[in-house]
Amino acid sequence: MSELHALFHRAATEAADFRASLDTRPVQASADLAEATRALDVPLPETPREPAVVLEELIAAAQPGLMGTPGPRYFGFVIGGALPAASAADLLAVGWDQCAFNGHLAPAAAAAEQVAGAWLKDLLGIPASAGVGFVTGAQGANTVGLSAARHHLLREAGWDVERRGLSGAPRLRVLAGAERHATIDRSLRLLGLGSNALEEVAVDAQGAIDTDDLRRVLAAGPTGQGHPTVLCLQAGNVNTGAVDDLRGACTTAREHGAWVHVDGAFGLWAAASPSLRHLVDGVELADSWGCDGHKWLNVPYDSGFAFCSRPEVQTAAMSYTAPYLSGSGAVSGAADYTAESSRRARGFAVWAALQELGRQGVADLVDRCCAHARHFAEALSEAEIEVVNDVVLNQVLVAVGGSGPDADARTDAIIERIQQEGTCWMGGTTWRGRRLMRIAVSNHLTTTADVAASVEAVLRAVREIDG
Ligand SMILES: *Cc1c(COP(=O)(O)O)cnc(C)c1O
Repeated sequence: MSELHALFHRAATEAADFRASLDTRPVQASADLAEATRALDVPLPETPREPAVVLEELIAAAQPGLMGTPGPRYFGFVIGGALPAASAADLLAVGWDQCAFNGHLAPAAAAAEQVAGAWLKDLLGIPASAGVGFVTGAQGANTVGLSAARHHLLREAGWDVERRGLSGAPRLRVLAGAERHATIDRSLRLLGLGSNALEEVAVDAQGAIDTDDLRRVLAAGPTGQGHPTVLCLQAGNVNTGAVDDLRGACTTAREHGAWVHVDGAFGLWAAASPSLRHLVDGVELADSWGCDGHKWLNVPYDSGFAFCSRPEVQTAAMSYTAPYLSGSGAVSGAADYTAESSRRARGFAVWAALQELGRQGVADLVDRCCAHARHFAEALSEAEIEVVNDVVLNQVLVAVGGSGPDADARTDAIIERIQQEGTCWMGGTTWRGRRLMRIAVSNHLTTTADVAASVEAVLRAVREIDG
């Protein structure tokens, strides 16, 4: 075996050992940031060193600071655990070291994105004619979708934003629900629209957009020809899992000539489940969509998808050219659909994940996670712990600290206790002025027994903090 073979074997074996340990090791890392930094903060060597030695030192230094995020009992944020075939495909992507800029530079990488992109559109209920770009995540996808909106709406208003920028441009109205994801605001900042451009639309009790208020806000300002308007909708509120009324909001927006962007980082996956598809009814009516691979599809980080109903609008907003590229584009300009130029070959892992699961497997994954979320809600409710949201998807909001005067502090203490104990990991949030514990179930490995063990861990922590 060559040294390179031995090195790659060692890395792959270490990765598999780590995955295999996830069911039994504490979810919380044993080292915190300061300890992890001390372990890695060795002098920069003056001269080259043996790769095998470097690898062993990295493994030893990093191991204590690894979180059990890919494991079955991590319920923080919205985090998936990469599927076996998807993980192995990503190891190949690293080994093959392809630059997925376009089909000329990396034919197989570009083809994998094209083919997997078509499967994604099919599963997510997005028109087959839409353009797709493989990006780092929903943040990147929201930026691409809103760039396409900016291009299209300003061009319709007689303004070439790619050439002229925004100084002196017609004002772009941006509407979004009060509980939009914060990445929408950052995309608006990056696009030069500024957060002041945002007109907030009221939301209902679960954080989904209020379509009556949407009609009111649209009517309160100028819309239609010459008054470009973009509406940001959401499939999957990061606290409650609520999905906006996509059909109602898209229909209203259309009447005002608005562009609709759907941030569907995780919630868009409801479309892949026959029993949940009704939640995203009307999804096909939007103009652009953002979705994540690394959350609910359980593809390794980083992986997201930016879709646009009109591919030519997406490329008009995103593509660039340069003399040295002539003759190398056009074959398949994968990078013409994203904000990046040189990119890792993310298509392989997505291709492998979808082949591993199949249509039925994706639906089962989504359904199973939602069933686990309901199981959490039922078990905690039975223990007299208040579940605050309607559990419609994979998110559960829990008033674990009760509702007394020191409820917020108790909630934080209980969450801290759960994290340190290590059976499972759940995070906190502030929703409508209240500290709550958030449970997000997105991992393909999670079983009913994992949920039961995690409920027990939560109840233990509650007892310990409450004394
Ligand atoms: C996670 C999330 C994002 C951001 O996604 P990244 O993958 O972190 O870039 C945006 N919107 C929603 C609704 C999310 O849940």
